[in-house]
Amino acid sequence: MKNERKTINIAIDGPAGAGKSTVAKRIAEKLNLLHLDTGAMYRAMALKVLRLGLTPGSAQDVLPLLPETDVTIAIVDGVQHTYLDGEDVTGIIRTPEVSKGASDIGVIPDVRIKLAESQREFAKENDVIMDGREIGSFVLPDAPHKFFVTASVEERARRRLLEMHEKGIGLDKDLETLKEEIAARDYTDSHRDFAPLRHVEDAILVDTTEMTIDEAVNEILRHVTEQA
Ligand code: C5P
Repeated sequence: MKNERKTINIAIDGPAGAGKSTVAKRIAEKLNLLHLDTGAMYRAMALKVLRLGLTPGSAQDVLPLLPETDVTIAIVDGVQHTYLDGEDVTGIIRTPEVSKGASDIGVIPDVRIKLAESQREFAKENDVIMDGREIGSFVLPDAPHKFFVTASVEERARRRLLEMHEKGIGLDKDLETLKEEIAARDYTDSHRDFAPLRHVEDAILVDTTEMTIDEAVNEILRHVTEQA
């Protein structure tokens, strides 16, 4: 028999480094939802293009690859694994080069259309909290719970620096460089023509600049419970 149960969908959008993924992960645990980090899919796609020595921002380079490229995700023990043509690339898509590539490739509408299709499919089949840039505006415009999570550029760069130092990566980067990189990604994300990053009217704004992770999580949970 067909399962007609409506799934729970929460959309979280916002700029790079605002804490969307961390917050979404915690909420997923608390509400027993799956967490889908859509940025990882753009990263995997960019990795393929970079490995081939091509340019992620070039539609001419990228479009011929789309029909033969398979980006899928699986949640294993609560952790998202991202697969590129069957290879688990989870651990190698977090470099600054791939971050920039993901931002560049996301400007190409056909890339977004392809990835959004599998994201919608995932949301239809699972109770999910999905984070990205245009989940509430384009991927799941009918999601009953939408949030726009942001923070100042300074604070986002500071958090990125801390995170990188904890992981022992990018130790040559200073705060100013990170701020510039984040501001450049913000610009690309919010100025693309197709499905840009934007705060849609029906998304609740959560500015985490002066919030702890717990405070941001509680703020979102409070709204979700109220909206239920
Ligand atoms: O979220 P994360 O920083 O991992 O995303 C990497 C890049 O992928 C972003 O800067 C953004 O340009 C792109 N992206 C996107 N749409 C999404 C998620 C990520 O364009 N839904």
